[in-house]
Amino acid sequence: MLKVDTEKCTGCGECEESCTFEAIFVEDEVAVVNQDACTLCGICVDGCPEGALELHVEEGLLAADLSSWKGIWVVAECRSGVLAPVTLELLAKSRELAGELGTEVTAVLMGHEIESKAQELIFYGADRVLVVNHPELATFTDEVYGNILADLAKKENPEIILAGATAMGRSYIPRVATILETGLTADCTGLDIRAEDRALLQTRPAFGGNLLATIVCPGHRPQMATVRPHVMRADAPDPGRKGDVIRILPGEELLSHRVQVLESVKEQAEGPNLSEADVIVTAGRGFEQEKNVELARELADLLGGTVGATRAAVDAGWLPGRTQIGQTGVTVSPKLYMACGVSGAIQHIVGMQGSAIIVAINKDAEAPIFDVATYGLVGDVKEILPLLIQRIQKERGS
Ligand SMILES: Cc1cc2nc3c(=O)[nH]c(=O)nc-3n(C[C@H](O)[C@H](O)[C@H](O)COP(=O)(O)OP(=O)(O)OC[C@H]3O[C@@H](n4cnc5c(N)ncnc54)[C@H](O)[C@@H]3O)c2cc1C
Repeated sequence: MLKVDTEKCTGCGECEESCTFEAIFVEDEVAVVNQDACTLCGICVDGCPEGALELHVEEGLLAADLSSWKGIWVVAECRSGVLAPVTLELLAKSRELAGELGTEVTAVLMGHEIESKAQELIFYGADRVLVVNHPELATFTDEVYGNILADLAKKENPEIILAGATAMGRSYIPRVATILETGLTADCTGLDIRAEDRALLQTRPAFGGNLLATIVCPGHRPQMATVRPHVMRADAPDPGRKGDVIRILPGEELLSHRVQVLESVKEQAEGPNLSEADVIVTAGRGFEQEKNVELARELADLLGGTVGATRAAVDAGWLPGRTQIGQTGVTVSPKLYMACGVSGAIQHIVGMQGSAIIVAINKDAEAPIFDVATYGLVGDVKEILPLLIQRIQKERGS
């Protein structure tokens, strides 16, 4: 928390002026902190001419305690008998991190009739798989999944726990972090290790996506993060990999829950799934009018792909919200991403920068999208797209 030394404070108001969160103000000639609004950014501390402000960091674990936490856990997600792609992506990343830490990777697999997936997790990078197989886990509930994962973590003390920032992960992983009294960085787009203290460097968009913040959890364990699907790459499975499968029977007290799932209804979406498409043609505000978006559809159809959108195109009502790519939309990593009339705002880039080949078409040669593009075409989408469409049709003889 942010503390004010009232003896030193002169009520000069420097802190009030420097705080963009309006979390500190001067009252009766002394600084007063609204702890709920304070983000502990420390700007006021540095700017206080009297040295009257201090960031008081809650004491966590001592260095000796920290060293007793070992191993990286990946929370495996398995729906309808299929492992979520993000699980495989996290296993590949965890192998890299485990190499730096000199530790092992454990996958935690919870569900019903999921045992056959344990071997698959080993092929994709797990050294051990903790399998919790129980009829009560056939339907997902935050309480039961959260209780079991937290209970396992309390018994085994993993150094790091990673999960997908999926609907499921976003729902129950915060519960686990709360039970374990540790921090959680949600929606990470990058993970690394700081060699000197083994800290997990957790990078995610911050301040409306205008910058990427790297967050550490210095005094608590485990270090927990959820990671967006498709921002990391899965390794190819290695059927020769060996590992241990450990079956765990959950205690009855962990299986009780107050929420009853009555029915699960699958959303009926039209067209190919954006996050699984190999080719995406994205329409930005540069299309100028809704009718021009037809050009993106035509090109996507020809390439066997689908159409994506920037938020500007969605806000204009040209394309539905589910096609939005970026920080508040879907994260994609197709083989070919065509950004047409897209400026390349950071909130958009974080959702598509993992694409294998990025082609940008923009009439402004200085547009930031060209910084991440593999190929760039400077010009009007209304002129370039018809030429591309004609050329592809000609090559195919249609
Ligand atoms: C908290 C937050 C979350 C956000 N989340 C997302 C998100 O998930 N996804 C997202 O996309 N945005 C998101 N945004 C919005 C983002 O900041 C940008 O405003 C948005 O991405 C811009 O969309 P755009 O590139 O289509 O439009 P613009 O930025 O207006 O760019 C249009 C581009 O088209 C070019 N152009 C114009 N006419 C033509 C033409 N005829 N031919 C070729 N090029 C042309 C222009 O040179 C320009 O570069 C978010 C913003 C915030 C604050």
